[in-house]
Amino acid sequence: MTVIDVKPLTDRIRAYNPAIDDDLLSRAFSFAEKAHRGQVRASGEPYFTHPIEVAHILADMHLDPATIITALLHDVVEDTDVTLEQIQQQFTDEIAGLVDGVTKLTRIEMKSDNKQAENFRKLVLAMSEDIRVLLVKLADRTHNMRTIDHISRDDKRKRIAEETLTIFAPLAERIGMTHFQHELEDRAFAVVNPEMRTSIISRLDYLSTQSEDLVSRICDELNTTLYEAGLESSVSGRRKSAFSIWRKMQRQKVEMEELSDIMAFRVLVPDTSDCYRALGVLHQKFPMVMGRFKDYISTPKRNHYQSLHTGIIGPNKKKIEVQVRTPEMHEVAERGVAAHWGYKIDGKSVKPNEYKQLKWLNDLMRVLENADSSDEFLEHTQMEMYADQVFCFTPKGMLVTLPKGATAVDFAYDLHSGIGNTCIGVKINGKMRQLATVLTNGDQVEVLTSSTATPNPEWENFVVTGRAKSAIRRFIRQEKQKEFAQLGRGLLQKTLRQAGKDLVDSTLLPCLIHYNLKTDDELFARIGEYHIASEEVVAMIYPDLKPIEPKKTKTPTPKPSLNIKGLIPGMAVHHGRCCYPLPGERIIGIITTGKGLTVHRVDCQNLEKFTTMPELWVDIEWESDTPNIVNARLETVISNEPGSLAAVATTISDHGGNITNIQQTARNLDFFTFVTDIEVSNVRHLTAITAALQSNPFIESVERAKS
Ligand code: MN
Repeated sequence: MTVIDVKPLTDRIRAYNPAIDDDLLSRAFSFAEKAHRGQVRASGEPYFTHPIEVAHILADMHLDPATIITALLHDVVEDTDVTLEQIQQQFTDEIAGLVDGVTKLTRIEMKSDNKQAENFRKLVLAMSEDIRVLLVKLADRTHNMRTIDHISRDDKRKRIAEETLTIFAPLAERIGMTHFQHELEDRAFAVVNPEMRTSIISRLDYLSTQSEDLVSRICDELNTTLYEAGLESSVSGRRKSAFSIWRKMQRQKVEMEELSDIMAFRVLVPDTSDCYRALGVLHQKFPMVMGRFKDYISTPKRNHYQSLHTGIIGPNKKKIEVQVRTPEMHEVAERGVAAHWGYKIDGKSVKPNEYKQLKWLNDLMRVLENADSSDEFLEHTQMEMYADQVFCFTPKGMLVTLPKGATAVDFAYDLHSGIGNTCIGVKINGKMRQLATVLTNGDQVEVLTSSTATPNPEWENFVVTGRAKSAIRRFIRQEKQKEFAQLGRGLLQKTLRQAGKDLVDSTLLPCLIHYNLKTDDELFARIGEYHIASEEVVAMIYPDLKPIEPKKTKTPTPKPSLNIKGLIPGMAVHHGRCCYPLPGERIIGIITTGKGLTVHRVDCQNLEKFTTMPELWVDIEWESDTPNIVNARLETVISNEPGSLAAVATTISDHGGNITNIQQTARNLDFFTFVTDIEVSNVRHLTAITAALQSNPFIESVERAKS
């Protein structure tokens, strides 16, 4: 029976932190013990032995009490009835937050997929908002790897080991936790490929027994060689790990028998020119192994690693690997994870001397290395590097990386533009949600589509990815083109009829060539947009016809043929652009400096401005309501669906009105607002047209434009 006691842990922590709160630690200890009571590990031991061991691993790293308590509690939310709220009540928000972080990582872990290892590593980093979460997770993984032999199922063991190699060991490496890294790699290697590991180790053992103290004797000889050449150096050496040798064997496709360089040596010299001098000295004295020289000083690695690498047949005829660098380069190499990170996060390069600015990581490592760790610092160390990204899953577990603030619609477009264009709803973590919902890390997103659905223009207001934005805009543009084409087709047809011709008998080819357009629809759209006058087109198709005066005008112009009583002789007359008075309506004239007389409807709101200036008012009225062509401006709100704009145009022309300008002024989810200038005979004519428009099902409202 395993004795479960808090004392060994308390003692271990007290050794580096005399101020430890015994009571809090004991409470966490018995809380977790009680929660896990009755559960057993694959080894048959009480489950609680696992959190205790994880806590010990972190205590060995001299971590703060909150981290160690989190280690004790790290599996209770996921594996027992305990809730996060209970932890919050019993302990602190800080501890609850850390436990929550570890729990989320545990859930993510279950979805991991080796094919997307890099994304998963990023995901884990992004989810580890507090670096202590990641440290607990790495300690958890380390203990699970130490006890992996108890898992009986071979495939399960292999899966865990592979995940350790692809996700956790590289993460440990990145945050500079090399002892975690090496232990994780070695233990995982023993599961993934035990035969290979055993044979590499026995080969290494055999090679070392060939001569004792080989590493230190080679170090001495290299040092002496460099000293005699006038170079001050410090040489260190080590035997490579079985896993790193295996990795190299795979990369370089070498066989066991060729495996001779099992030792790596590092030569530190004061400055860069010394590096090249040292290299020259070594190459002069020892035969060089061809193809092994690499100059990472003149061409640093992407993570800013700098060194000279070479392979030589060194002392005792041993093939060895030598790295030559300055102390500064060494620092980058050792703490280079910082520079490496910086590079990856921003997607742009960090200059070699900027790596020091990634202070948090250097500070973190200093904290972890020093016994007197500052708890406060750890608390505020955020995993900021992926703060601008959010990682989500498809129901099948595929990881989708999006910028922070991305919504369900961005997610849909990221999968495929077809999915984005037809999405109608979304389930996030199994629940129906709004398409505008902003996604958070770890969300599982299921996009619901309908083959008949189309993008909603409103989406453009909340999507954040360029991909979604451009797809939505492209769709709207295409739809608009279709509408303009319908409108333009109608306009052209009408003009042709006036000339006694019909569209079906007419060939548009000369126009297409003239305007450099590809299709009839493109031409119709240009006409619909009023970029090309239909009269011009007709004149081009039927050059022999008597030219038709283009009626198209960008802005309504006053007609000279107005018959108004009471005008001052010789005075220019303008229509009020604000109210567009029509024959038959009650009007008033206002004398406008430099313009002459402006005619307003008596109910025009702009007249208020002139109430204090009675001298400007001129009493006028229409001479008769005999038909005159006048401009009227209508504001129509039409439903946002194909054909609606064409319906407006058709209704107006069917009632003898002539559209001279049309302009979209607003657009929302369901409706478009257009301001339309039309030529009508008089107010009765306009009333007839507005009545017809109002009865059209596409049209939500129609009224005289206010301005
Ligand atoms: Mn665990």
